[in-house]
Amino acid sequence: MDGYTITPLKLGTITRKKSNMVYGAEDTPAEFPLLAFLLEGFGLKLLVDTGGSAPDGTRWMPYTRTPEESLPAALAAAGAEPEEIGAVFFTHLHWDHAGNNTLLPHAQFYVQWAEYGYIAAEERPGYERELVLQSKYKLLDGDVQNVLPGISVLLTPGHSAGSQCVIAATPEGPVVLAGDLIPTCENLARNAPNGGHYDRNLIAASMARVTALNLRVLLGHDAAVFRSCSETRRNEKG
Ligand SMILES: [Zn+2]
Repeated sequence: MDGYTITPLKLGTITRKKSNMVYGAEDTPAEFPLLAFLLEGFGLKLLVDTGGSAPDGTRWMPYTRTPEESLPAALAAAGAEPEEIGAVFFTHLHWDHAGNNTLLPHAQFYVQWAEYGYIAAEERPGYERELVLQSKYKLLDGDVQNVLPGISVLLTPGHSAGSQCVIAATPEGPVVLAGDLIPTCENLARNAPNGGHYDRNLIAASMARVTALNLRVLLGHDAAVFRSCSETRRNEKG
């Protein structure tokens, strides 16, 4: 069965109150990985999200990045070059998901119309607006099947105005890249939405919709993605 191999890329660490990530959790600070995902298959190399730009102390929350966690270094460690990336699907355009677009000279950028329109309209908290608007985007409007081979998107607003989930075909079946709709294992375990949300009713509805699909979910800010993805790769080999 054809499909994508998915490699999570750790592009830094953010520190924020746990309750900001898991609605109803404690207010103690916690560290969360900043993630993007490399998808290889169907003769294509794609990314889901691009991470944050270089830390300079002006982000929306404490953020650190080692040299190995820059996008080019993380791609190199995964055996890919920035020039090879043909497309990026943005779960949304927050600063920690859309900060490295300019490093990808040949990528077509896909985002939901509702997300782009929200940030294009005016300055909004959580977005690096000037940087984000430097890129040209292909705007998707709602759910779209087979945007590229083996890639479909679902409009799942709530964390942000136009968040989307990416459904990627893999040899083991479809996988949902949930972005910040479902950032950590604890969100799933507690059935708790992301504590940072644009609209609480929308995010609850989007989360219910995605969990009802009963597919494997790759989380937006949880190191568990490394564990489960490496298990997937072992299975493919053996
Ligand atoms: Zn976000």
